[in-house]
Parts: sequence; structure tokens; C-alpha cells
Amino acid sequence: MTGATRLRGANPQTVNILFYGEVYRMYTDKTLVCKDCGNEFVFTAGEQEFYAEKGFTNEPQRCKQCRDAKKNASRNREMFTAICASCGKEAIIPFKPRDDRPVYCSECFAKQKGE
Ligand SMILES: [Zn+2]
Ligand SMILES: [Zn+2]
Repeated sequence: MTGATRLRGANPQTVNILFYGEVYRMYTDKTLVCKDCGNEFVFTAGEQEFYAEKGFTNEPQRCKQCRDAKKNASRNREMFTAICASCGKEAIIPFKPRDDRPVYCSECFAKQKGE
């Protein structure tokens, strides 16, 4: 049966139903408030079931829009500039440069890989 799953440890909003002598937990849509924008969004029964199957115990904190926005933000990551340890030119890198690690520009990095 869809929408129902065997009793588990997680704690979503559910209704317990007795089915042929066994207790099933029927998920129901739940309205949550987004942490970022404050809008209400629906944590659907299907999503709750998915979360329970994955063993996630935390409910989603953000609505879909904010989650998507976050995803896009991490895709267009912040870039950092550093001085290439090989040629001394300015290099643009996708991570924060650390003092203990040399940073290379894309040209020198490619050259190193090619050797
Ligand atoms: Zn939101
Ligand atoms: Zn370089």
C-alpha cells in the first residue's frame, strides 16, 4: 500500500492505522515554516516517508524555493583570488587559500597535471 509504512523510530506527523493486525503509520501532509523566508510550506506525506526511509530524523528547515536558492548559491560558489606559487600571477580559485598550501593558477595547475 502506498503512503503507509511500517512503524519506525522517526517522528513525523502520522496517523497510526491498524491493518490486518499490524500497526502502520500513515503519513499526512504537514505544514512547516521556512527558517529563511518565514513562509509556510508543505512537508508532504511522500517526503516524510522518503525522509524516514533514508533515516533522516530532522524535518526540512526551508521551503523548496529557499532550498533551490541555496543549491544554486553553492553552485555559483564564491571565488577567491590568490597569488600563483609558480608564476606569481593572480589566480582565481574556488576555495579559500590557506597559508600552508601553495596555490596555482589554472595554467600552472594544468601544466603540473600534464607532467
Ligand atoms: Zn523559504
Ligand atoms: Zn601560475
